[in-house]
Amino acid sequence: GPAPEAADQANAWLNSHDRVFGHFIDGAWTAPGKTFASTNPASSEKLAEVTDGTTEDVDTAVRAARAAFPGWSALSGYERGKFLYAIARMIQKHSRLLAVLETMDNGKPIRESRDADIPLVARHFYHHAGWATHLSSQFPGMVPYGVCGQIIPWNFPLLMLAWKIAPALAAGNTVVLKPAEFTSLTALLFAEICERVGLPKGVVNIVTGEGETGAAIVNHPDVDKIAFTGSTEVGKIIRAATAGSGKGLSLELGGKSPYIVFEDADLDSAVEGLVEAIWFNQGQVCCAGSRLLVQESIEERFIAKVKTRMAKLRVGDPLDKSVDIGALVAPVQVERIRDLMQRGIAEGAEVYEPDGQVPATGCFLKPALVTNVSPANTLVAEEIFGPVLVAMSFRTPEEAVALANNTRYGLAATVWSENINLALDIAPKLKAGVVWINGTNNFDAAVGFGGYKESGFGREGGREGMASYLKPSWEKDLQPAPVR
Ligand code: NAD
Repeated sequence: GPAPEAADQANAWLNSHDRVFGHFIDGAWTAPGKTFASTNPASSEKLAEVTDGTTEDVDTAVRAARAAFPGWSALSGYERGKFLYAIARMIQKHSRLLAVLETMDNGKPIRESRDADIPLVARHFYHHAGWATHLSSQFPGMVPYGVCGQIIPWNFPLLMLAWKIAPALAAGNTVVLKPAEFTSLTALLFAEICERVGLPKGVVNIVTGEGETGAAIVNHPDVDKIAFTGSTEVGKIIRAATAGSGKGLSLELGGKSPYIVFEDADLDSAVEGLVEAIWFNQGQVCCAGSRLLVQESIEERFIAKVKTRMAKLRVGDPLDKSVDIGALVAPVQVERIRDLMQRGIAEGAEVYEPDGQVPATGCFLKPALVTNVSPANTLVAEEIFGPVLVAMSFRTPEEAVALANNTRYGLAATVWSENINLALDIAPKLKAGVVWINGTNNFDAAVGFGGYKESGFGREGGREGMASYLKPSWEKDLQPAPVR
């Protein structure tokens, strides 16, 4: 079981704030307003109360960000970079606290928050500290947007914050960021890290709240760019709301990514990759390999291997280092997934779940494998955002490509084959922002990530990610002064 002291440090930090949080605006904590609970989905215990941001709160934060912009953008890239390095080092120093708090608030296994989320967060700040010093040589004639409104989901709370804040700050923007309502706590701890490294006040503002708070950021007239990660549904609302406003926009939305296994693949490696693709973070991953497409000649053998492996996955207390599958983020997500499963089953799907127990209370689901589905089945067409893999078969590479692309989404794809000519022939035919060959979920701050079609547009990470926080300097002169 988990070491009982694992949560001690995180609880001590929450207690140091009396478990009630205001917003972090202009370098200081506001008094808590109307609050809602942030809950541990594994134990159902309330962790803290966070403030539901009002339109006025958002306005105060935007004004603070606006006031901080001239000073922050006038710093040399080297000086801004030093702040980003300091943040990166502080994240490394407090990585255990951050990982445990993330796991308590989100339900993801500690092995993942410790070995993936938090190291990738630090890496993102280190990487962008470097970019800050190279802007004038790599992006001549480009300037920051100004005030960026950033809205993020709950599946990788601190990592999505890093993807948003690191490039924005490196480029010289100031930000107002809203974490998702289920997972505000690591963003609030991050605010404290900004305080500790002496980041100038108003450069980073964290406003907590629900969808309405997000909408207030999107609709604020003095925000220059919106960066959103979340559902396709909300992405469409935001695109409509910002159309014609002159605001910059990038959208990272949902997915239904194919995981293609050819008959000549190293099947055992492909099974391990599949575990990573669909059961990492309980399947609550925008680029999850949620549609297994397996060549007919090996279908039976491969599915048998997948089932054997599924039976070995341990579902349970996310603070337990030996657990593979933790809790889903909230009861509402568990219900959503159950509803989708029932619809799929009514349409003819068959579901395999391994024997064995999951904890009786808390947001736990077993891993599931869905077979006997047509392309029109709800479970094939809809993003489930849970530990549910849907399997279909194909005969030829052409058929694999057609099935893979038969989706509204286009975020990621994975190809397994020992024939590199085949893999390299297939990869560019897949309409997806990233294609992994004989591997999956490989991320790096230096590589752009983002989608096609209903998965959104714009890239985060790498050169393209930096470019999305800069605009040509002549645009400044074309824009009317904002009405305030
Ligand atoms: P969501 O769209 O409901 O919420 C995302 C964020 O938007 C939250 O902070 C929420 O409070 C806010 N929000 C809700 N309504 C809003 C509105 N009208 N205006 C402004 N902000 C609003 O999504 P979710 O359920 O939190 O996250 C799951 C979804 O996110 C999945 O569909 C997943 O595929 C997607 N996702 C995509 C990526 C990516 O990189 N493409 C990454 C993670 C998650």
